[in-house]
Amino acid sequence: MAVYHDEVEIEDFEYDEELETYYYPCPCGDRFEITKEDLVNGEDVATCPSCSLVVKVIYNLEDFQNTEEEKAVKSTKTQLEVAR
Ligand SMILES: [Zn+2]
Repeated sequence: MAVYHDEVEIEDFEYDEELETYYYPCPCGDRFEITKEDLVNGEDVATCPSCSLVVKVIYNLEDFQNTEEEKAVKSTKTQLEVAR
């Protein structure tokens, strides 16, 4: 079983939209990283490429599943409201 260095809320991670990856500073000077795809798949362990530390990501799985659809629905709705 993995021993977590810490537990970090997803809000505290820095998000790189291009790489769709979340980053959080690691004490070794590098950064923990976890991709959006990992989160969608229910993966909640961010790893550091430079050392053996791992952190547990605190997030709501439902926030990452269906987000694409919800956004599409919302933007369509907003456009309709603006049109009126
Ligand atoms: Zn590290």
